[in-house]
Amino acid sequence: MAYEALYTRARPKTLSQLIGQEHISNALAQAVSSGRLSHAYLLVGTRGTGKTSTARLLSKAMNCDRVHEAQSSGRPLDKKEIPCNKCDACRNFDSSPDNVEFDAASNRSVEDVTRLLSTAYLAPLRSRVKTFIIDEVHMLSTEAINSILKLIEEPPPNVAFFLATTEINKVPMTIRSRCQVLNFRLIPQPRIATYLLTLARRLNVTVHEDAAKKIARLAEGSMRDALTYLDQCYAMANAEITLENVNETLGLISDESLDEIISAVKAKDRAAVGRAITQAFSSGLSANAINESLITRLRDIEFDMLGTDARDFVELDKMIDALRSAAGEMYGSGIPDIILEMTLMKLAAPVQNFVVPQGVVVQTSPSENLDAGWKIFYDTLSLLSKQDDTLTKILDKATVTSFAGNEMTLGFRGEAAAGLFKRNQQTFEQAIAQVAGRAIKVSVVIDKNLPLPMLRNMPEPDRSNLANAIDIVHASDATKITD
Ligand SMILES: [Zn+2]
Repeated sequence: MAYEALYTRARPKTLSQLIGQEHISNALAQAVSSGRLSHAYLLVGTRGTGKTSTARLLSKAMNCDRVHEAQSSGRPLDKKEIPCNKCDACRNFDSSPDNVEFDAASNRSVEDVTRLLSTAYLAPLRSRVKTFIIDEVHMLSTEAINSILKLIEEPPPNVAFFLATTEINKVPMTIRSRCQVLNFRLIPQPRIATYLLTLARRLNVTVHEDAAKKIARLAEGSMRDALTYLDQCYAMANAEITLENVNETLGLISDESLDEIISAVKAKDRAAVGRAITQAFSSGLSANAINESLITRLRDIEFDMLGTDARDFVELDKMIDALRSAAGEMYGSGIPDIILEMTLMKLAAPVQNFVVPQGVVVQTSPSENLDAGWKIFYDTLSLLSKQDDTLTKILDKATVTSFAGNEMTLGFRGEAAAGLFKRNQQTFEQAIAQVAGRAIKVSVVIDKNLPLPMLRNMPEPDRSNLANAIDIVHASDATKITD
């Protein structure tokens, strides 16, 4: 007997088995019960969320003898009985010539589609209602769309349309406004994982819980993808599916290997980074796959850390940003391995020591305090650069003149910049508190003798020389604001 894919075997048989779309199945069950079904539905959602399955269940229910009996006697129907799957109509549904189903994304010719649609005007051969299920309806030709429009505007008796699409924006408004729209949600990961475990039990296959969770995460809300992944693992692993099987079958790197790379980067241990990444490459995985897994892993770590030490977030965000831009560089490059390796090495580079500006140090504050102040200041700047470009530009003009405990003084050379900063001070204080892990009181001083921002990190005597040169230029242009 030919092997039947899990996705086909696991298709919901009744509305009660539709997972993660209760808002739809509940509403439809009521509509079926009260006999108030529409003749045109537009099913919208990502692939694998249950659109076609729902269309089939409704088509079947529209023809089900027991559903009709219940409707005429006024007996309310349970989701489990829609459809009954026992009556003649239900049992013959799959071979029924009155259920027309096609995918607009396949290479069906315009003539073919027009011919199929024209059969809507013929009475059903064997069923109560003739049903049309059209997948990826946005891919149809304008001509076909117009035929459908005409059919749903003036529907022939006993015809129902189920139009499914992953791209609602590409469906003409004229169609959208004439259909009852069903919005399918992404199925939550825990629901997918639980379902995979239930299904496995039914099939007498042992699936480890961490394996099911990993598959659910990879499926990103699509049950079809989850079942396809499970199928692949099942074919490779026989009766027991472990996390290792999942990683191996789907060409994934293990969380342990990823954590090894991440820990090495965090520890600023370049040798360890080198060893970990070489190990990852030796398992035959592509640089792109490793990079993608690293980003996903970092995101998962971030989620797990929610509500804990804020400092780590900045570090993780920095890693994710660097890896994401590496992904862009790697795309189409002949040396993706090297790009990934260099990105990780750069991230593992020791923290840059900022040069403390000379002459502006408040004498009572120890220089290591000022050093710490600059470090926090730059970390805050990096955090803000992601959300507030204006504030970052203002802060470019600031100098940390003192830092001790919970107090920081920022110096500006001019009133304009200081004023702009004060207007945004609250945002800065929120960010710095996030970076430092405590509230920091920020005061502002204006001192035109502060070094120019671009000179802040420049060693003497270069800084004084350049500063003098700039002062001369400024002196020759009196209209210039020297902030
Ligand atoms: Zn039935």
